[in-house]
Amino acid sequence: MILHLENKTPSVCIRDLEKNHFAKFIFHQDYIQAVTSKNTVIIPDSIAPYVIDSWPFDSDFQLGNVEYKPRRTVKIGHKLLGGNTKNLHLIAGPCSVESKEQITTVAKALIKNGITSIRAGCFKPRTSPYSFMGLGEEGLLLLNDVREEFGLNIVTEARDATNIDLVLKYADVVQIGTKSMYDHGILSACGESDKTIMLKRGFGSTLQEFLQAAEFIMSAGNENVILCERGIRTFESKTRFTLDLCGVAFLKHHCNLPVVVDPSHALGHSYGIIDLSKAATAMEVDGLLIETHPSPKKALSDASQQIDLKELEQLCSSVQSLAKSLSLNII
Ligand code: PEP
Ligand code: MN
Repeated sequence: MILHLENKTPSVCIRDLEKNHFAKFIFHQDYIQAVTSKNTVIIPDSIAPYVIDSWPFDSDFQLGNVEYKPRRTVKIGHKLLGGNTKNLHLIAGPCSVESKEQITTVAKALIKNGITSIRAGCFKPRTSPYSFMGLGEEGLLLLNDVREEFGLNIVTEARDATNIDLVLKYADVVQIGTKSMYDHGILSACGESDKTIMLKRGFGSTLQEFLQAAEFIMSAGNENVILCERGIRTFESKTRFTLDLCGVAFLKHHCNLPVVVDPSHALGHSYGIIDLSKAATAMEVDGLLIETHPSPKKALSDASQQIDLKELEQLCSSVQSLAKSLSLNII
């Protein structure tokens, strides 16, 4: 249950909600926001006199629920996503920052296509210990140069709690990857920050679990959360994962956070990325996350799914014309 309480609510009541109903609080200027466990179905008598408003929920998907607040807008740099904006934000870049030359080449291609957010990883959570793990801080410094030279927003990933502070320092948007969706060190550091957070769905997670991970960030005080559908594991083995567009429809209907679709990690192959991007655009999602590399075959991570810079141009023009017919603004 979400409660808006008067600021004069006695601290003994606050402690009671915390201890017996596992409540999390955010102290606003005009009211105290308390979010209790879904098991709190009746407002406790001692609290009732201080309740301004209440929203009972039968699950712990609460702050992100449209029943609580209509669709929220979240910022990436100066761009607004979500709400009633009808904006479609394109985010693109290589899986990993590999060198100054590589990231600068991509940055120039993004600018040419009107894309204002570059996404590239420096701390890569790999499946094999013998894979390229990213350039670490050296990569973040290269991204920082790219922001200064081209004015691009930096979207980059934290692998675990040991690098989250560094990533928070350099990123405009912190990406929480599929394997880190349950990392409480990352979730709580992101919740304490005011940076925009892009939370990717765990590939083995239900929508409920995905939304509860988002609640960890929001209930800690940071409501600037973007959800990213990036494919889930199914019985299918011909594609890397299965892009859950039904899940996207669910999120758009029930959730108030912006939704970005990442077709690259879902399909795992470059050939269908334009089609999937069009499908997601047709659903009027809030953003697309596309992996692109100047020479995909030579990429140090996720080589098979990255589109080259020519294909990026094709993708942008296909999405642009579809977006126009739907009155969406590509930003
Ligand atoms: C990535 O974005 O490069 C990445 C590793 O994504 P995911 O966490 O979705 O696999
Ligand atoms: Mn990748």
